[in-house]
Amino acid sequence: MKRSMLELNFAPDALTPRMSAQTLSFHLGKHLQTYLDNVNRMAEGTPYDEMTLKEIVMKADGALYNNAAQAWNHIIFFKQLSPQVVTMPRLLTQAIAARFGSVEAFREAFTHAAVSLFGSGWVWLALDAINQLQLLPMSNAGNPIREGMRPLMCIDVWEHAYYLDYQNRRADYVNNFWYLIDWDKVEHRRQSVDYTLYY
Ligand code: MN
Repeated sequence: MKRSMLELNFAPDALTPRMSAQTLSFHLGKHLQTYLDNVNRMAEGTPYDEMTLKEIVMKADGALYNNAAQAWNHIIFFKQLSPQVVTMPRLLTQAIAARFGSVEAFREAFTHAAVSLFGSGWVWLALDAINQLQLLPMSNAGNPIREGMRPLMCIDVWEHAYYLDYQNRRADYVNNFWYLIDWDKVEHRRQSVDYTLYY
């Protein structure tokens, strides 16, 4: 099974100046494409070839896991971006406030987690097995579904995600990224039980 490239529903320069067309083009066209190519190549001729990307993330180990998880993480990442600033829906605001105290307190915790994560990785907002919101810093290709959680939102803090635009200023990237998040999409994910609805 060939896993094809993600198509965005906005232009490469639509997120400027918070995320440049150059960053988006390299991130999508080089990094994500390479992860997908690697999965397609490594899965070919094995039982993994018939599996969805999510099934591979759940079952594979080693290099195939790393590439499949990175591909899946990036699809979740890119599909939650919006060229327009999206106001957080009321139900999501309430859920976040109930768990973290307030949206501002959540934003501070999310920002701190993203800035302080050592090396490469991701910070996730996810729902655990009892539908509690969790803030999860995860290194490298880390992914909440391997922990039995449902990912709602994430930030990629690998240097390739921000270095062209922000160089070493990860905090500036994180602060700008907040305004690129499609909170309607995040709420839709929170209300969905089927991962395939994500992309
Ligand atoms: Mn990335």
